[in-house]
Amino acid sequence: MVDSRAPSTSTPTPFRVLVVGGSYGGLSAALNLQDLCNGRRPRCGPAPAEGETEQSGTETEQSGVETPNIAIDITIVDERDGFYHLIGSPLAVADQAYAQKAWVLYKDIPALREPNVRVLHGSVQGLDPKRKVAAFAARGSGTQTTDLPYDYLVAAAGLRRVWPVVPQSLRKKQYLFETSDYTRAATTARHGAVIVGGGAVGIEMAAELKLVHPEVKVTLVHSRDKLLSAEPLPDEVKDRSLELLREAGVDVLLAHRLERTDDARDASGNACLSLRFANGHTLLADHVAMAVSKSVPSTAWLPRGALDDDGYVRVDATLTFPPETPNAAHHLAVGDMIRWSGIKRCGGAMHMGYYAAHNLHQRLLASSSSPTAETPKFLELAEVPPMIGLAVGKNAVSYWPGGGMTSGEDVMTVFFGDDLGFTICWNHLRLGGYKSVPEVPKA
Ligand SMILES: Cc1cc2nc3c(=O)[nH]c(=O)nc-3n(C[C@H](O)[C@H](O)[C@H](O)COP(=O)(O)OP(=O)(O)OC[C@H]3O[C@@H](n4cnc5c(N)ncnc54)[C@H](O)[C@@H]3O)c2cc1C
Repeated sequence: MVDSRAPSTSTPTPFRVLVVGGSYGGLSAALNLQDLCNGRRPRCGPAPAEGETEQSGTETEQSGVETPNIAIDITIVDERDGFYHLIGSPLAVADQAYAQKAWVLYKDIPALREPNVRVLHGSVQGLDPKRKVAAFAARGSGTQTTDLPYDYLVAAAGLRRVWPVVPQSLRKKQYLFETSDYTRAATTARHGAVIVGGGAVGIEMAAELKLVHPEVKVTLVHSRDKLLSAEPLPDEVKDRSLELLREAGVDVLLAHRLERTDDARDASGNACLSLRFANGHTLLADHVAMAVSKSVPSTAWLPRGALDDDGYVRVDATLTFPPETPNAAHHLAVGDMIRWSGIKRCGGAMHMGYYAAHNLHQRLLASSSSPTAETPKFLELAEVPPMIGLAVGKNAVSYWPGGGMTSGEDVMTVFFGDDLGFTICWNHLRLGGYKSVPEVPKA
């Protein structure tokens, strides 16, 4: 099929690509697509082989066929006004300097300063895949929506997570107030701070708080007799996480199911909270943070038929919507919001973003009468086994089936660097710009 936007004319009409969600998955899809459409090696693709440059050695060039540049306009929509390094949340709520660094306004991201890329602050509230139109509500416009027409859509809207697992503010300014309120409440807690829930998030929240504020008594309580009990990981990973957490100075209470929290007074008459557990144990605290609620996919804006019973998008291995969706081949989804195997991870979201960009680019080539049009070659996502990288204060634990479990400060350096992975993600996505060894913004 030849599209009227064929790029062989001198001023082709660009393909309109709409990306919903400007975090790991969405930015990866947008920026890798930008690379491919400009004849560059995709930034999250395989590293260049010896003798190849960034501008050469793409798959099509290796096959001897020149890849034409393709005109695209990319619109990224996000509810936040900047890229938020979600992984850093446990540290962002404990440390204001880090909170400042972990949220970068989209306007301050060099990689997005391209004439054909725009970022809209607001939310997509509905989709008509038949007409290829999204209903967009600009931030502050209430429920009023305008039509955003597109040729291709990449959905990357992640999961809805509650406070304090993730800050709820949609503007950086508000977010800094939100995180500093938490820091103040947790660190002035005379009777200590209690984190409820021994999953990955609860472990990291407890460990980061203790690391930044060693003077605060921090207790992690968990209803089961092992940490990470909901994760399909070997016991040695769960046991090692417990050891590291205790070494970091966090008190851990296992098999403690929280029944209720009441206002109380301590022996000196000071106001505090009394926590009562199902086993009869009680504990006084000033600050209680819940890290237990189930996150739900942010897919209310998508057609119900494209979702499974839990609300995840039913993509195939090429990350394309289910075939019964009108114009299915024009709709892809990546990241936490899709139904796929494996523990939800930001590395997975960025990898999927690259696959979506590659597959979308193949479709653009196919519809633009290029010499490669006959044979689109799609990348297919493999099944993902359970794997994890978990920061526990100064140490980290990692596990994947091929490598087994490792832990220690060196594992922390490899997986998270010295800023809970901010620089690693920033560089991987080359948010500082394609060419430079990316510059990381100062906190
Ligand atoms: C506290 C915490 C710690 C974590 N630690 C790790 C870790 O150490 N390692 C790891 O690999 N993973 C970790 N994860 C998981 C990781 O953060 C996710 O896998 C990753 O964020 C998924 O990326 P995503 O792009 O799919 O979605 P998200 O990062 O959730 O981004 C979705 C984006 O879409 C936007 N959005 C949502 N709905 C709409 C809409 N309707 N319209 C417009 N925009 C919308 C949101 O504002 C958001 O910016 C952690 C998660 C949490 C909560």
